[in-house]
Parts: sequence; C-alpha cells; structure tokens
Amino acid sequence: MDNASLRQEVIRYGQLLVERHLIQATWGNVSVRVGDSFLISPSGVDYYHVTPEEVVLVSIADGTYEKGLHPSSERRVHQAIYQSRPDIKAIIHTHSANCSVFAACHESLVTDEVNYPCAEYAVSGSKRLAKLVGQMFLAHDGCIMANHGFVTGAQTLEEALTQACDAERIAGELLGA
Ligand code: 13P
Ligand code: ZN
Repeated sequence: MDNASLRQEVIRYGQLLVERHLIQATWGNVSVRVGDSFLISPSGVDYYHVTPEEVVLVSIADGTYEKGLHPSSERRVHQAIYQSRPDIKAIIHTHSANCSVFAACHESLVTDEVNYPCAEYAVSGSKRLAKLVGQMFLAHDGCIMANHGFVTGAQTLEEALTQACDAERIAGELLGA
C-alpha cells in the first residue's frame, strides 16, 4: 500500500474505533509503520473531519516529525512499541469502557485467550509512559495502561482492531458486564 492509502487507512480505523465504541469523539490514536517511520493520527481531531495531509509521519529512531503538524500526544508510546517490536506494523490505543475499568483498578487482563499486563501509571503522553509500555511489549502484544486505557499492536490494523475488540469483550465477560 502506498503512503496516501496508508494515511486514509489511519483515518478509517480512527472512525472504526468510534463506531465500535472503543473510543469517544477524538480520543485514542492509530498508527502504521512505514519503513523507519510511522504514520500516526493527529492530536485531538475528529476522525470524520481530519484530512490525509494531517496524518503525521514520525521517525521511529528519534521521534522527529514535520514542523507545523500535530501528531498524537501518545506518539512516544507508539514510537517505543515500534522500537521494542520490529514485527509490529500497526498500533491502536483505546479508552474502551471495560478495559478502562481494569485500568482504573490497575488490573492485568489475563485469560486463556489473552495476556495483557497492566503497565504502572505514568502521565499521558510522558516519556515515562512510553518507556513502561515499550518494556511491556517486549513480551506482550498489548497492555492495560493504569488509570488510562488499552494499547495493542499487530501485523496489520485489521488485526490490531480485532485484538482491541476482543480485549474489550473479554474484559466485559470478566466483569460480568
Ligand atoms: P491524542 O488526541 O493526542 O491522540 O490523544 C488521545 C489520547 O487517547 C491520549 O491518551
Ligand atoms: Zn489515551
């Protein structure tokens, strides 16, 4: 897929996160790996009004991006995951209701089906949060972020979305929701 199509995909999956009730409004974020960089949703924008040009290309090595653009405030989390896991090509971060209950309780989401540990709390967008999540991904394909939400990575956005939906369903089952 070329870069223009990948920009459209990032936006389309942002819309799917809203439609699957995994986020509300402008929350959450989506990225895909492109060579030694990644394309990520811009910060705080409506996924139904964002343009492909506003999707931001960020360097995996040093986090730099084109001047004037506003990448997601969680770009460091995405960067750390891509650094930890060369096999991961797509990342989705959600604030889905049931996963957020686990986040609020600092609880891992572990069953026969999934193994998503809880990363200890760090401020949203901080370098510390990125470091903690990057460490989690050395041995896991996703994690709960304490007091915050859920993040998962896969080979494709389709797989990452499935993982996010499954995590939400499983969290709900464990909660009896
Ligand atoms: P952005 O809009 O900056 O991507 O932030 C959303 C979010 O979920 C922060 O954790
Ligand atoms: Zn968030």
